[in-house]
Amino acid sequence: MYKATSPQAGTCTVQRKNGEFCDTPSADDMPFPICGRHASRLFARMNELLSEFDSDPLRRLMAGLDDMDSRRERADKRAAKRGPGVIYYVLVGNLLKIGYSQSLQARLRTYPPSRKLLATEPGTFALESQRHAQFAHLLDSGREWFRFEGDLVEHVKTIRDHVAA
Ligand SMILES: [Zn+2]
Repeated sequence: MYKATSPQAGTCTVQRKNGEFCDTPSADDMPFPICGRHASRLFARMNELLSEFDSDPLRRLMAGLDDMDSRRERADKRAAKRGPGVIYYVLVGNLLKIGYSQSLQARLRTYPPSRKLLATEPGTFALESQRHAQFAHLLDSGREWFRFEGDLVEHVKTIRDHVAA
């Protein structure tokens, strides 16, 4: 076993670290050719990842929101060609979401009622990406959830002062 250097039809497609493929016959009814032993190792690892994730309801919620966001963002990106929107800073728990929207009120309804809108600034997708890069050192979860501390607190304060002025 483990001699093939390319996967053979009907056998496990898992590649071992030495570059050879597992040539054990695939188990039945798998979405792709994989032997029972490798399938159970994959399952065990996925199960581990999922239970780590599941143990934190806030992270689970944020992953869900990120997923909805990426679908919404594709729609927003098409809309963005028509004009600018806002960059918004929403606090959920102890994490701050930096996002972009063209319809902020609708977007805010997708967050838990306890969310706090701290600030908004006029902007585009380009500015949102710039802010994500600017505060990358505070990134906590997903792509858009940041620890609300240090220069990010200062930044939000600056926007608020600017709006109030
Ligand atoms: Zn295998």
